[in-house]
Amino acid sequence: MRKYRLSILLIICTGTVFFALCKTNVLKNLVQQNKFNKIQVKPTEGLKEIPKTGPILPGEKPINSVKPVETEVKPRVIKEVAGLVSVTDIDNSLFIDLKYSTADNFTGKVIYPVTVCLLQKETAQKLMKANTEFKEKGYKLKIWDAYRPVYVQKIFWDIVKDSRFVANPAMGGSIHNRGTAVDLTLLDSYGDELKMPSKFDDFSANAYRNNSKMDSEARKNMNYLTDVMKRNGFKTIDTEWWHFEDSNSSEYKIVDVKLDEFLKKESLPLN
Ligand SMILES: [Zn+2]
Repeated sequence: MRKYRLSILLIICTGTVFFALCKTNVLKNLVQQNKFNKIQVKPTEGLKEIPKTGPILPGEKPINSVKPVETEVKPRVIKEVAGLVSVTDIDNSLFIDLKYSTADNFTGKVIYPVTVCLLQKETAQKLMKANTEFKEKGYKLKIWDAYRPVYVQKIFWDIVKDSRFVANPAMGGSIHNRGTAVDLTLLDSYGDELKMPSKFDDFSANAYRNNSKMDSEARKNMNYLTDVMKRNGFKTIDTEWWHFEDSNSSEYKIVDVKLDEFLKKESLPLN
């Protein structure tokens, strides 16, 4: 009987010890597993908010939505030197073909060191209005010359010496020297020049507005060009159909700014 009791006690003890050992191992495993998990998945690092895609429901805040960037709208600054502006800063749809910045002119030489078409600001604005009117009908202005520095006027005078076509710099110079005269023609919607009384800088009676031998189509085109230009504040001269002057030209003085100087200078107000 005693032997039997001892056996039972031994079994209980062995079971208790075995149970205790198992429990310890299980706990150890759990701790290790937990450590392992902590390494594998760090809540702060591993879990990231996934931006919501698709429609945002009423009352729902978009996750990680991009805040609209407030951009300051700055007024466009137009460079101005002694009242002169680049006409393309006023109207970039004008076609600029400055003949004196190429050798394709009556001198056969490149006269302007750079291709920049300048006018007094108010004159450029009138030109833009005229061009807008032409564009509504499918045409646009092509500019051959605008502001012309005084030293260039002297070069021209030395070659031509005919005041019907070139203004004598010693006699007050040209309206071009003030930046209020512009030489131009019209382009059609294909970019081709409309038929006009003569070529540019044709120093002959063919360029006269009242030339009786003028082709009827050329006369019609010249008259259309003239009507729109006059309606927008320009006046004409008799000896060159392509030449237009701001009707307020007398209010402006001769400006002596070289074209390359204009490009280099900062925007300067009138003195
Ligand atoms: Zn002219």
